[in-house]
Amino acid sequence: MERLVILGGGESGVGAALLGKKHGFDVFVSDGGPLREKYKEVLVQNEIEWEENQHSGDVILGADVVVKSPGISDTAKLVMQLKSNDISVISEIEFASKFTNSNIIGITGSNGKTTTTSLLHHILSASGMSIGIAGNIGHSFAKQVVENSYKNYVLELSSFQLDGIQEFRPNIAIITNITPDHLDRYDNNFENYIKSKFRITLNQTNEDILIYDGDDPVIVDYLSKHKIQSTLVPFSLVKSLEQGAFLDKENIIIKIDNSQTIMPTANLALEGKHNIKNAMAAATVAQLLKIRKHTIRECLENFHGVEHRLEHVLKINKVHYINDSKATNVNATYYALESMESPTVWIVGGEDKGNNYEELYPFINEKVKAIICLGVDNKKLFENFGNMVDIIVETQFMSEAVKIAYKIAEADDNVLLSPACASFDLFKNYEDRGRQFKDAVRQL
Ligand code: ADP
Repeated sequence: MERLVILGGGESGVGAALLGKKHGFDVFVSDGGPLREKYKEVLVQNEIEWEENQHSGDVILGADVVVKSPGISDTAKLVMQLKSNDISVISEIEFASKFTNSNIIGITGSNGKTTTTSLLHHILSASGMSIGIAGNIGHSFAKQVVENSYKNYVLELSSFQLDGIQEFRPNIAIITNITPDHLDRYDNNFENYIKSKFRITLNQTNEDILIYDGDDPVIVDYLSKHKIQSTLVPFSLVKSLEQGAFLDKENIIIKIDNSQTIMPTANLALEGKHNIKNAMAAATVAQLLKIRKHTIRECLENFHGVEHRLEHVLKINKVHYINDSKATNVNATYYALESMESPTVWIVGGEDKGNNYEELYPFINEKVKAIICLGVDNKKLFENFGNMVDIIVETQFMSEAVKIAYKIAEADDNVLLSPACASFDLFKNYEDRGRQFKDAVRQL
């Protein structure tokens, strides 16, 4: 019996454990921290061995194959030890893909993964297709492969999940964009992070498709320097294309071979230029899969987005309150500010990831009337924006941030939470930050 060791007993680890058990592996789950109750129950019920708050080196080093949680770095001591012992260390995505023949659409990028994945799933399920959604979103891919028999999957993939693939081969891949993020895990080297995103194409052939942002200088530069086997289908907001999605005045055109879909941008339910791109990416897949044009258009018109992504919360005294807590890097906030059409009180800050704020300056001058810094350390925000707005204040409490915003904002203004930073200094995670924002707004 082959011994499967799983490092990290979260959603993906427990999914991989169930899949391994089903396929006759001798499975052991090891987590350096505490396991959540619900996962312990699943492991116990399925008679899978596990440990928490420790890693028993001797057992782990006896593995034939190791599935590592994306949360554990490749440079962790144990992982290095496994590799030097020639033990294969893979991600749950790689492991799960060995046990399914379904069509796979994989979506990666620095921003827009969840939105594009959800939108595409929305279109494909409306078309009646047998389609599962997994990866970085909802239930793990491995768990879906155990419990369901979908003929197609749309997978949201982080760079950490892609780092652990060997043979994984999506029929269609999307790279939404590449901007600096998570560089702490890539030796502060942007090149390494770019390579990691492009691993989505590692095993693709010319029968497989790569859809990507043809306006993204990082992606375009990488493609000009590296030979990629995949058939390339770009999307663009600024140029017309022979094959792909582009804008013609106020219309999105999706052109694949001899088929063309036209969709007025004004009919998109989602706002902002970034969401035109996300819609282009999702609609291109749908068209490649020959989904009816009517279904594609209808779904783009009625998909209202995912919580914490430019989410409209309430309108109070004609002021719009918008929750963009998932904007944990500068590029996401760029598109949030870009989409603001009236003066904006901007709540920003948190754990800085080496941010460079310069690309936001034009928007600050043009649209931002006040800045509320919400972080433990707001020095860098004051240094960057202190001279650009009349009002800049700081607080460590969401309720106070929202109250200050309420006092400053006037009719037709926006109050935007778009932090450009991670949330861990003051909140459990970005969801907690977003919910606290919404609660505070509702209490006004
Ligand atoms: P991810 O799953 O890659 O983190 P999300 O869809 O959750 O992406 O969005 C994260 C943040 O990025 C949100 O603030 C959202 O408004 C913004 N965003 C969404 N799509 C894009 C895009 N194509 N380019 C830049 N920012 C985007």
